[in-house]
Amino acid sequence: SLVLGIETSCDETAAAVVEDGHILKSNIISSQMEIHRRFGGVVPEVASRRHVERVTSIIEQALGEAKVTKEELSAVAVTQGPGLVGALLIGISAAKAFSFATGVPLVGVHHIAGHIYASHLVEPLRFPLVALVASGGHTELIYMPEHNRFERLGRTRDDAAGEAFDKVARVLELPYPGGPHIDRLAKAGAPHLDLPRSWLGDSLDFSFSGLKSAVINLLHNSQQRGETIEKADLAASFQASVVEVLVEKAVRATRLKGVSELVLAGGVSANSALREALASRCREEGIILRVPPLELCTDNAAMIAAAGTYQFRDGQFAGLDLNATANLSLDR
Ligand code: ATP
Ligand code: MG
Ligand code: FE
Repeated sequence: SLVLGIETSCDETAAAVVEDGHILKSNIISSQMEIHRRFGGVVPEVASRRHVERVTSIIEQALGEAKVTKEELSAVAVTQGPGLVGALLIGISAAKAFSFATGVPLVGVHHIAGHIYASHLVEPLRFPLVALVASGGHTELIYMPEHNRFERLGRTRDDAAGEAFDKVARVLELPYPGGPHIDRLAKAGAPHLDLPRSWLGDSLDFSFSGLKSAVINLLHNSQQRGETIEKADLAASFQASVVEVLVEKAVRATRLKGVSELVLAGGVSANSALREALASRCREEGIILRVPPLELCTDNAAMIAAAGTYQFRDGQFAGLDLNATANLSLDR
C-alpha cells in the first residue's frame, strides 16, 4: 500500500509518501523555524498563513519525489490533532480536498501516534512495547499491545519536557527553540547544582514546571547575592534532572507492563544526554531501546503516513466532516 501523509500541526508544513507502512518513498519538510525565531515561539496566526502558502506545493513535491501518482495511493493520512487548531485545519482541508477530488480514502491520525511510528520507518516495531514521547507539547508514556492500539500510562501535569527546555533556554538567553542549545551548552558544564526531581510518588505522570521555577530562582538569587553561576552548569544540572526522571519512569513503565521494547519518540529524543542515559539504563535492564534517527525525531509527515497505514488496515477511515481537534486523546 502507498499512503500520502500530511502534517501541519505546528510550524512544519510536511508531506510524505510511505509504502507498506514502513518504506520511506519521500519526506518533504518545510520548517518555519526561522520565521518564528524572532518571536521566541510559534505564532499561531503566522503559522497558519505559512501553511496555506506551502501545503499544496509540498504535497506535489512529495508525490513527485516518490514517483507516485494519485491513482496509486491507498489512503491520504493527515494529522487531526493535537496541535494548533488553525494550523491543523490547513492540512486537514488540503487532505479533504485531495480525497474528494481523487476518491482516495481519508484517515485522521493522532500526532503522537505519528511520533511513535517514526521508529517504524527504520526497523519494524515489535509488540508489546512502551513508548516514551517527549516533545514540545507532550511528555507521555504509552503502552502499545499491537499496531494501532494505544494505552496512556502517564502524561505531564503541566509543562512538556520540550517546553521546559525551551523556557529554561529563554531564561539563559539562548535562541529558540532552546532544546538543542541547552544540549550543547550542557556539554561544557557540570551537573553539580541542586535542582529538584519531581517523582509524584508512584505515578507515571510528569511535572516540569517546578523544575523550571527552581532554575529561575537559583539564577535570580545568585544574581542578587552578586555571585555568578556558570550557565553551562545550570544547563547541565537542569538537563540532568529532566533526563533522570524521564529515564526512571520509562523503565518503571516497561516493568509495570512486563515488556522489553522501549521506543523513544518526539523532538526531545534528539537530546544527547537522554539518548546516552536511556541506552545505558536499558542495557542494564535488558530492555531493547529504539531511538529514531535525528531527522525523524521532530515533526514530519512520514511518521503520519506510517501510523495512518495501520489505521487504514483496520478500516478506520474519516469522512469529509473530519475536523481538527486541538486536544485529541490517543486512547480512543
Ligand atoms: P508536539 O509533538 O507535542 O505537538 P512539537 O511537534 O512542537 O510538539 P517536536 O517538533 O516533536 O515538538 O519537538 C520540538 C521540541 O524538541 C522543542 O521543544 C525542542 O526544544 C526540543 N528539542 C529538540 N532538540 C532537542 C535536544 N537536543 N535536546 C532537548 N530538546 C530538544
Ligand atoms: Mg516544530
Ligand atoms: Fe510533534
